[in-house]
Amino acid sequence: MDYEVRKTWRNHRGNQQIDPLRTYRPTTIGQVSEIVLAAERDRVSARAVGSGHSWSDVALTDGFLVLTDGLARVPAPEPDFVRAQWADRTLVRAEAGIRIKELNEHLDRNGLGLSQMGGYDHQTIAGVISTSTHGSGTSYGPLNDFVRSLDIVAGGGHVHRVERGDGPTDRAAYEAHHGDRRTLHQDDHIFDAVAVGIGCMGIVVTAMIEVEPKYYLREVREMHPWAKVKADLERGDVLRDNEHWEIVFSPYARKHEYPCLVTTRNRTTDPKHRPWDKRMRNWLVELAALFPFTSQLLNLVLRLRPSLAPMLLETAMTALVKKQYDHVSYKVLNIGNANLVPALSGEVGVALDGRHIEAVQRIFEVADEWRRVRGIYQSAPIALRFVKASPAYMSMMHGQDTMMMELIELAGSTGALELMNAYEQALYELGGRPHWGQINAMTPDFVAAAYPHYSDWRDVHRTFNSSGVFDSAFSRRVGISE
Ligand SMILES: Cc1cc2nc3c(=O)[nH]c(=O)nc-3n(C[C@H](O)[C@H](O)[C@H](O)COP(=O)(O)OP(=O)(O)OC[C@H]3O[C@@H](n4cnc5c(N)ncnc54)[C@H](O)[C@@H]3O)c2cc1C
Repeated sequence: MDYEVRKTWRNHRGNQQIDPLRTYRPTTIGQVSEIVLAAERDRVSARAVGSGHSWSDVALTDGFLVLTDGLARVPAPEPDFVRAQWADRTLVRAEAGIRIKELNEHLDRNGLGLSQMGGYDHQTIAGVISTSTHGSGTSYGPLNDFVRSLDIVAGGGHVHRVERGDGPTDRAAYEAHHGDRRTLHQDDHIFDAVAVGIGCMGIVVTAMIEVEPKYYLREVREMHPWAKVKADLERGDVLRDNEHWEIVFSPYARKHEYPCLVTTRNRTTDPKHRPWDKRMRNWLVELAALFPFTSQLLNLVLRLRPSLAPMLLETAMTALVKKQYDHVSYKVLNIGNANLVPALSGEVGVALDGRHIEAVQRIFEVADEWRRVRGIYQSAPIALRFVKASPAYMSMMHGQDTMMMELIELAGSTGALELMNAYEQALYELGGRPHWGQINAMTPDFVAAAYPHYSDWRDVHRTFNSSGVFDSAFSRRVGISE
């Protein structure tokens, strides 16, 4: 099979890069098996990458890098063998490298939609599953919770299909077709381990997800002071009464109040006959976010007059206020062109058990200290999203409803990474778990302590990664190499 040698790979933001020994672009499951076998034979590592939208080092390997854009068909060519009990469920099996964007387009054409997604759609389906990417709304877990079946190439190049104990595949039909060349695991323990594999369990080739009929959402964005948002959060009804509820806030008080932009998203009917301005976000803001010059200008202003940061953050949030934006679900769940602003981000999850309120208070204190003592300012609003507990052993949301706090900074802003680290350390004191795909400073002891099923995950990892072929500098940093 063809490959490139020492070709530099960079993530989408360019803050991570590596010159892997070889870069492969397989198009079949058989080729993926061959690559894993070749890596084991040569005693180097192998790692799949999606579309490189992780800010962390999670996708890097100095061995064989496996690009997955040649594995992006939907429906995937792998047969499903769905058993009768699952016949009335809406299931779609896609190849690992399809981006959420193209998956959504396929679903839309077929009158279907994802029940939940993150705020962006350029990541691949395997990428979002592997790092437990999430949206906001406490009725919904992270994206991996919508997976019903995974085909994964593990150590020895062996192909495994992994599902829950009551999973959709008819065992007799599967085994009659594949014989002992492949293994079907219908086992909750194995599924909960493999679901969020962080690239360390093997190379995912297909994912079957459960979807629903196409639907529409209404988004409302309003400014409120933190005192009101805090009271709403303490009562908890906003989380129960809205399908999606999220916040961005400034950590700097203005006129004694911390400004927050509150976004709610709830189901509505097909808006095609509503006026055009109800069917789009604020076009001027969307346009401004498209130009790299906008963030360069902001960075310049912040460098010359850092003390303008509180005013700029509030102005940026206020510009997003909109009483009504109605559209097909996946367009509303995508937060828009804000995703294109050059940024770096870390994200830490804190249990929704009262520590989430304390967490915001801690961020106010850290931001204030860094402003007073070092003259370093937060350069972008901070986001809060709310996610249902996930059974996946290594999901940041494992076992607890969680508030994910996204610590976004404009790329190139002064002291960004140091400030982000200070926030992260403060949130660790509240039991915070960082997003695998976002900048983090996790160490082995931290990971072992943060995840109660860590040793169960490691048991499965030892089987799927028996040769250590899926280890990497990242897995060694966080202590999950064999
Ligand atoms: C603009 C932007 C917006 C974002 N929005 C959100 C959001 O709303 N919510 C959220 O939770 N996160 C968000 N993220 C983070 C992002 O969703 C995750 O980092 C995600 O993992 C990136 O997917 P990817 O396809 O780019 O995967 P990559 O970054 O390429 O890889 C991520 C991990 O998945 C593994 N992997 C990829 N493909 C495979 C495969 N086929 N088999 C096995 N392992 C594989 C890699 O080895 C690596 O460990 C955002 C990131 C950006 C840049």
